[in-house]
Amino acid sequence: MKEKIYTIPLTDAFTEGGECPFCTLEKKLEAEQVSYVLGASMMEPDARIISNDRGYCRRHYEQMSRESKALSLALVLDTHLNELIEKLENASKKPDVKAGLFKKAEGENPLVSAIRDDQSSCLVCDKLQHTLEKFAEVFWYLYKNEADFKEKAKNCQGFCLPHFLLLLECADRELSGKTLEEAKRDMIELELTHLKRINEEVNWFTKKFDYRYQNEPWKNSKDAPQRAMEKLSKFL
Ligand SMILES: [Zn+2]
Ligand SMILES: [Zn+2]
Repeated sequence: MKEKIYTIPLTDAFTEGGECPFCTLEKKLEAEQVSYVLGASMMEPDARIISNDRGYCRRHYEQMSRESKALSLALVLDTHLNELIEKLENASKKPDVKAGLFKKAEGENPLVSAIRDDQSSCLVCDKLQHTLEKFAEVFWYLYKNEADFKEKAKNCQGFCLPHFLLLLECADRELSGKTLEEAKRDMIELELTHLKRINEEVNWFTKKFDYRYQNEPWKNSKDAPQRAMEKLSKFL
């Protein structure tokens, strides 16, 4: 298939297991992207232009600062600041629709709008989102066409809710008719089974703090709150 490069990381993530194979995959892609920003992309003028334009969110600046590439990070910050200041200066010179005698109801202060624009993107987040959407398409392609993969998917531990939503929305675009109906039914059943399973594990964790259960085994509940948070975390 055309997207061959996408199938191996995806099947690897399903082999690795965990509470969400898409999270496993995303962590790898994220680490690669962060080190690309401070590595190879420094030498690519086109990549630098996009980096200077979009900037990064707090999470990804924090990951960059852990990379021990002080000079690369400072260069990224320096040129992004340059561009940002220029944009804000230009915006501040435009007429302010909110000021003056006759306040217009519509429109926004140009500076506010320029800041809002800057705040609405992070190069790493944007690329991850785009790549994960591609992987969701490949997921359904393999699910439909490769029995082994379908079996693997039906036996995974479910997904975190944001990635489950990504898959369901993608299914509506990629599949149709009976295939779509069955695939969604199977995946919803799988997700609910595993939400109940993690609920039981967390519940057993809470019971272990009750003296009546203190001599009972932990079963696999010791890290259940951590895994439950992985399943439930929202991407805001
Ligand atoms: Zn996930
Ligand atoms: Zn980000």
